[in-house]
Amino acid sequence: MRITALAGGVGGARFLRGLRAQLDLVAPESELTVIANTGDDISLFGLRVCPDIDTLLYTLGGGVDEGQGWGRADESTRVQGELAAYGAVPQWFTLGDLDLGTHIVRSQWLAQGQTASAVTARLAQRWGLPEQRIRLLPMTDTPVETHVVLDEGETQRAVHFQEWWVRLRAEVPASRFVVAGLDRAAAAPGVLDALRDADVIVLPPSNPVVSIGIILGVPGVRDALRGSTAPVVGVSPLISGRPVRGHADACLSAIGVESTSAAVAGLYADFLDGWLVDPADASVRVRGVQTAVHDGPLLMTDVPATARIAESLLALAERVRT
Ligand code: GDP
Ligand code: CA
Repeated sequence: MRITALAGGVGGARFLRGLRAQLDLVAPESELTVIANTGDDISLFGLRVCPDIDTLLYTLGGGVDEGQGWGRADESTRVQGELAAYGAVPQWFTLGDLDLGTHIVRSQWLAQGQTASAVTARLAQRWGLPEQRIRLLPMTDTPVETHVVLDEGETQRAVHFQEWWVRLRAEVPASRFVVAGLDRAAAAPGVLDALRDADVIVLPPSNPVVSIGIILGVPGVRDALRGSTAPVVGVSPLISGRPVRGHADACLSAIGVESTSAAVAGLYADFLDGWLVDPADASVRVRGVQTAVHDGPLLMTDVPATARIAESLLALAERVRT
């Protein structure tokens, strides 16, 4: 079986780790292709940082800080302390010492002329993803960056997505998201093929606006999903109208969409076949989409609980196929 997933950072990575565990039990030969959001990417101190790809690498590769959900386990911040001593800015983005190794090597390889896809494949090798039959692809090789236009009354100001998310904690209302470079971006090699050739396409509970929504904006991706003969099934990132973590509600309100599981599925209604929800959202109905209620909380508390969510999702994919 060939499974293709679109993914952001923490929500995507945790789900995919559970999905891989479930596949190892029931279909170990299956291939998992992950198309990662790169809209969160940012250049800091001359280094290219790809937060969602790094979270996917560390989580799937067994090196993530479990409590936090991102960054490296057993991390320190001595380098960042030195930067602070020099008065270097910004200081609001945490750069751990081990994590900096990834940013440095990525930046070096990019400077040597390698594509983001090639660099990601090399990083994935170190984290043992190919051995797990996981192929990690950036959504595009073109540098793109999500910017947030802030709603500050008279004045219009845009900041990098990371500044809004991390420094401003998404507390300043956003009026819209602009993805610099996306209209000129092409899907990375393998991305459209992975959607066309998949047996199942999955949407983990990633942020519908600034993770999945950005990937859907890559030219050709949405059309590939609409044209797919494989079932497209997703896991709701909201339970009872609230994101499990992060500020998806602030992102949804910026694009004028209600914070409900049904409204999120509505964003995908042109290609979605199945939608898995929490028991608290059992009454959710979405036109043209088959909903299923997970047998237990839709919470990725640990790998076994997440594997059970993946099992429900794969069962839903089988039901919508027939
Ligand atoms: P980010 O890039 O690190 O923000 O991560 P993603 O975009 O991949 O995922 C963020 C989304 O995951 C948020 O909207 C959360 O509501 C959702 N999420 C996180 N943990 C859980 C969970 O345990 N269950 C569900 N259903 N959603 C979750
Ligand atoms: Ca992200």
